[in-house]
Amino acid sequence: MLTPLVFSALATAAWVGAPVTVQSSASICRLVGGRSFPSYSVYYSLATPGGAMYYSAPGSSCPFAAVLSAIDAAWVAGVLTGRQVEQAQRVVAQAEALFSGAPTPPPAAPAPVCAACGEAADYFGECACAYVPMQVA
Ligand SMILES: [Zn+2]
Repeated sequence: MLTPLVFSALATAAWVGAPVTVQSSASICRLVGGRSFPSYSVYYSLATPGGAMYYSAPGSSCPFAAVLSAIDAAWVAGVLTGRQVEQAQRVVAQAEALFSGAPTPPPAAPAPVCAACGEAADYFGECACAYVPMQVA
């Protein structure tokens, strides 16, 4: 599970809207009988007097779902735009990939450049050699 500190950092990083106070909790719930499971919650409170509060569905066992559920609540309330929600989803997806230990994709290979002019192919698949400067009479 994520530590409270890491979870708090994730919840803070995912918020891209107006200034908020972020409260998060990551805890272990123990049931009678010894079974236990992680429980994550996030609260975003707008940093304005009497600011509204947006919170995750209670007791999510997935830290990423908890953050997204609080983000979703703010979106439903019209506090975040669709674009901001997409950005939040990207932040959460990156964190999820990071913590899952999945290998990071290799960096994209640089585009091959022409040996003669040193330019990469342009939109039309041609380098600078393909273009002859126009002679102005
Ligand atoms: Zn060339």
